[in-house]
Amino acid sequence: MYGNKLYLSSTSIQLFKSCKRRFKYKYIDKVSSGQKITSKYMSYGQSVHTAIAQFNMITDENYRTLEILHKLLRKNWMRDGFNDIEEEKKFGNKALRILEGYFKNPQDVGTKNLIVEGMIKKDLDSQFVLTGKIDRAFINLDDKIEITDYKTGDTIEHPDEFTLDPQLAIYAVLAEHKLKQFPQTISYYYLSHNKKVVRNVEGSYAQAIKDYLMSIVEEIRNERHYPCSPSDYCERTCEYYNTCDAASGYTSTQIIRGLQEYSSKGGFVTVF
Ligand code: SF4
Repeated sequence: MYGNKLYLSSTSIQLFKSCKRRFKYKYIDKVSSGQKITSKYMSYGQSVHTAIAQFNMITDENYRTLEILHKLLRKNWMRDGFNDIEEEKKFGNKALRILEGYFKNPQDVGTKNLIVEGMIKKDLDSQFVLTGKIDRAFINLDDKIEITDYKTGDTIEHPDEFTLDPQLAIYAVLAEHKLKQFPQTISYYYLSHNKKVVRNVEGSYAQAIKDYLMSIVEEIRNERHYPCSPSDYCERTCEYYNTCDAASGYTSTQIIRGLQEYSSKGGFVTVF
């Protein structure tokens, strides 16, 4: 029974960490911005994710071909956010290329699928529900439960083996909820590089992950003021930019600061 509980996902927690006011607008007040945020990167990423998920659900080896994988991409291709057909083509060709790399040398070979694109919810208490979509959980070749998250961006973001992050913690806790067993391995699969970054999450690390996640939940539970965190990125990335006073105040402050710096360097143009 989820009722009016607050849903916490990797996205909402990351948003809480970047700007608490935006988190409040979106998840507590449920303010409609009237804006649908779409981007070519979201379309590209979602299309690749869906193609791989559907491919991983095919059990008949006769259909596990590169041609089928490419067809799945074309069938599920999302067209929102591209500037023009040329740009869309460029992204489409890139997607075909990375899927070819994945098909020829997959880093996620296993013996059994446990979850493929599974949306999971876990009731935490009377106030919070943890939720997230697991790209894939499977038994890997070391006979361990591995959770894999496919990444379509070009940057490898998890170089440090021991850094805890909300996404990793949520996947691990949700997988345990669904599979009745804590996973042993979590991996981030960077498709552009066909490279997988692997974390062993067994033993005491499992408890550290759970504690870390609960500490974030407590931080959200105890937040009363939801302060703004204005930045240069607000206008481009926040759907509440036009209604957020802090953002326009920030822009004004930045302009005045820029003028002061320019002035202090004696930089005013005098030829007009
Ligand atoms: S515009 Fe900036 S400061 Fe305002 S809610 Fe959005 S992210 Fe936060």
